[in-house]
Amino acid sequence: MDQQIVLIPLVCTRCSTPIPAMADEMAWVCANCGQAMSLDEENGLIPQLIYYSDAISPNAVGKPYWVAEGQVQLQRTSYGSDKGQKQEAAHFWSQPRRFFIPAYQANLEQLLSQGIQYLISPPLLQEGPAARFAPATLDIRDVKSAAEFLVVAIEAGRPDKLKEIDFDLKLNPPVLWILP
Ligand SMILES: [Zn+2]
Repeated sequence: MDQQIVLIPLVCTRCSTPIPAMADEMAWVCANCGQAMSLDEENGLIPQLIYYSDAISPNAVGKPYWVAEGQVQLQRTSYGSDKGQKQEAAHFWSQPRRFFIPAYQANLEQLLSQGIQYLISPPLLQEGPAARFAPATLDIRDVKSAAEFLVVAIEAGRPDKLKEIDFDLKLNPPVLWILP
């Protein structure tokens, strides 16, 4: 089967400066005017808001995360005693949680450990000056499944023997934050 390859010229949406894009990258900042952009499958480059944490040290290279509020409705059952985990889980998910999905190149293990750590103790989001950041490679369309994966990992990691889990995650649209 013939495959059509369509090359989209990547130029800044504001000032038309060419964007040097590497394979797999999903978001860029124009070196000329500072406009932040992401790649949209249908529309090519589109303006993208990028927020920078004020906790990034001067001259340090930050890490991009997709950040989104999510509300989880969850039912879980355990083998044998649930050791109070049903209640713990109900309590943890009773409020909206902020999901931090690593957008930088991370393997599954890194995505899980960093994602869980920030889900349980979220970093403060206070805006600071723009900073350089590691390439953002995780597609925004993969954020929801990554967040669902974190929910499963948290529940499977509880000290009972998880038998079955059924949940629904309502996730707000993710935004890109650059964190230390
Ligand atoms: Zn520009």
